[in-house]
Amino acid sequence: MIQEIYNELYSSFGPQHWWPVTAEGKLHPEYSGGPKNEKQQLEVCFGAILTQNTSWKNVEKAIIELNKNNLIDIKKIIKIKNEKLAKIIKSSGYHNQKAKKLKNFCMFLSENYGGKLNSLFKKDINELRSELVSVNGIGPETADSIILYAAKKPIFVIDAYTKRIINRIGYKESKYEEIQKLFMQSLPNSEKLFNECHALLVELGKNICKKSPLCSKCPISAHCSYYKTIYTPKREV
Ligand code: SF4
Repeated sequence: MIQEIYNELYSSFGPQHWWPVTAEGKLHPEYSGGPKNEKQQLEVCFGAILTQNTSWKNVEKAIIELNKNNLIDIKKIIKIKNEKLAKIIKSSGYHNQKAKKLKNFCMFLSENYGGKLNSLFKKDINELRSELVSVNGIGPETADSIILYAAKKPIFVIDAYTKRIINRIGYKESKYEEIQKLFMQSLPNSEKLFNECHALLVELGKNICKKSPLCSKCPISAHCSYYKTIYTPKREV
């Protein structure tokens, strides 16, 4: 059923071109098919940290500020004072904590990989994941976003939208790893497919399967238990 849900979302919404990154000479990240060089990969890592507990709109503003200050740069993030960095990324919320998290991540890269993201990304998925979650401030969702969207390796990202949708559809899985397993066992093991599928679920969660869902507009309502419960007329007795 997961494959059918993916097919229906894709035919309704089309390709999503994730993760948004900033082109050379620009300030604003755009949906253009993900990172094409190491700087853009680093921007994705920063975005994955900044998007914790906030919307992408707020992250976008913080990335623009980082771009204006030429701070998509490991050495410069390590060097800048915490308070100054926190001010620059203020729009992303929890900015003091997030400034520390960005610094922790850059220190980790500098101390263990000579500041080379691509050396870290040479690791296999399991090693890469356990190294990333060992960094203070990087949890499973952030680590998986970095692996899928920056390192471009096949792992499925589970976020609050995905969890809400899957539970409304009627799946009983509730823990992060359980939901991740459900997707990874139901879909072919493909980075491009996991990228697109997660992006489509976010699109659905943001605009249709919201806190108060707009089920009449939903392209996957035929698969949804919540929809059937709400919209099946009760039989009179
Ligand atoms: S039918 Fe409604 S509850 Fe079910 S996935 Fe669609 S929007 Fe969400």
